[in-house]
Amino acid sequence: MGARRGTDYIQRLKDNPPETWIGNEQVKDPTTHPLVAPAVKSIARLYDSQWEKDKRSYMLSKSPKTGDLIGTSFLVPKSKEDLVRRRLMHKDWAEETFGMMGRSTDFMSAMLTAWYIHADFFGPYADNARNYFEYVRENDLYLTHVLIDPQVDRGKAPSEQPDEFTYLGVVRETDAGIIVRGAKMLATAGPYADEMLVWPFHLRKPTEKDYKYAISFALPLNTPGVRLIARESFVRQSVFDHPLASRFDELDSVVVFDDVLVPWERVFIYQDVERVNTIWKLNSNAFTGHQSAIRLQAKLQFLAGLVMRATEMVNTNQFPHVQDMIGEITTYIELIRAAVHSSEATSEQSPDGIYLPNVTPLYAIRNSGNRWYPRVREIIQFVVAGGLMYQPASVDVFNSPIASDVRKYYRGAEVTAEEKVKLFKAAAEIAVSDFGSRHELYERFYAGDPMFLRIQTQYSGYDKREPLALVDKMLASYGIENNSKL
Ligand SMILES: Cc1cc2nc3c(=O)[nH]c(=O)nc-3n(C[C@H](O)[C@H](O)[C@H](O)COP(=O)(O)OP(=O)(O)OC[C@H]3O[C@@H](n4cnc5c(N)ncnc54)[C@H](O)[C@@H]3O)c2cc1C
Repeated sequence: MGARRGTDYIQRLKDNPPETWIGNEQVKDPTTHPLVAPAVKSIARLYDSQWEKDKRSYMLSKSPKTGDLIGTSFLVPKSKEDLVRRRLMHKDWAEETFGMMGRSTDFMSAMLTAWYIHADFFGPYADNARNYFEYVRENDLYLTHVLIDPQVDRGKAPSEQPDEFTYLGVVRETDAGIIVRGAKMLATAGPYADEMLVWPFHLRKPTEKDYKYAISFALPLNTPGVRLIARESFVRQSVFDHPLASRFDELDSVVVFDDVLVPWERVFIYQDVERVNTIWKLNSNAFTGHQSAIRLQAKLQFLAGLVMRATEMVNTNQFPHVQDMIGEITTYIELIRAAVHSSEATSEQSPDGIYLPNVTPLYAIRNSGNRWYPRVREIIQFVVAGGLMYQPASVDVFNSPIASDVRKYYRGAEVTAEEKVKLFKAAAEIAVSDFGSRHELYERFYAGDPMFLRIQTQYSGYDKREPLALVDKMLASYGIENNSKL
């Protein structure tokens, strides 16, 4: 099949709906349900956009297996030009959703591409990983992933939780595969994706009793026994009043596995703590870091533009501290741009002829972005201030007996009330809504615990040779014997 269009994605989802629960309601058809369909439409739009004539050269690539066109997010880069094509593709998709859909389909395709390149890591299950990547690539599937165990008792090991299968583990083996039971969080986009990739985060101080939790596999989301419990939806129906939440709410969900059969050909890691705890060797952060940095760049560009326009409308952009804070946002944008380009320029060819983005500058962005985003949201609150609250409840007010009040008191310096309310509504969604708060939480945590991430990548795993060499050079440049003679 190769690269899909929006209608292909929607039809497959309609035919294979995951079992999703929103409160006490089971979502029968995600493609029409009012709280799920807006995200489905936005994802379908992404699939369609890869076929637009002026974008095809970088959105689509050739399948090495069939020669058909496939999405570029599955492209194994054989040159630095391929990395640039991947960047253009990620940027284009991020701009289509204004950076609001962190888990657009290119995120997981990026991850799976790294799994494919380094499939030997999976030892006896290496071919399963290779075959799965090809299956996803050739069918242009949309994946979610779940790593985290339910937040029940973080002070105890998996085997010491209140129930043996609170955390996802193996119940038994059969000839056909393994039976798994337990739960995982959080499958962002699970209610409207095709498949899920599962593995656990690092297992700390495991004993033999914890081996059954050291598993990785993939399954279609509509597999019998798989249930998704969604969080409260932040979707709002009015596009004018909620231009972002009405279209881009990525529904997060907990996945329950109720004695689910995972066929052997879908198993990647089986009761193997060593592999789970060294899964970083797959280097998927090189590709997901590339995607998420580019997506954050688009999102911050959008936010910077919003705040530039809002302050221009009421002439607060003449004040130096307002300019200074907007300048802080554009600083972050340029640092991301520089890191992304650096990750491509300093990429080195592997012995297999493959170019991975250099992960070091991308880690720096991941470890900063989770702190920058809350700050950018705070800046919008500081500079747009009461403007975030002084908006009429609904656009319907322009068709009411008090419309003249609104036209008079809600206008800007040079713009009409309609123009100003339209813009400020979007700023309010980012800065003070439930949808906006979820985005702050997402940016803080989507890649894992921000503290452990920074420790692992910027300290424990950081190449300390350059800073230490400088200190050694300085210390070697003087001694007790030449004190006061320099
Ligand atoms: C909006 C959103 C979307 C997400 N989407 C996905 C997704 O699609 N797929 C997915 O797999 N995950 C997803 N996640 C989950 C995300 O990966 C986790 O939130 C993140 O890894 C942190 O884990 P946690 O939430 O369980 O927090 P916890 O691990 O419970 O941490 C809570 C607090 O306790 C501290 N803490 C916990 N353990 C320790 C310890 N051993 N030592 C010291 N301090 C500790 C932490 O530092 C933190 O301050 C998403 C999260 C959010 C918020």
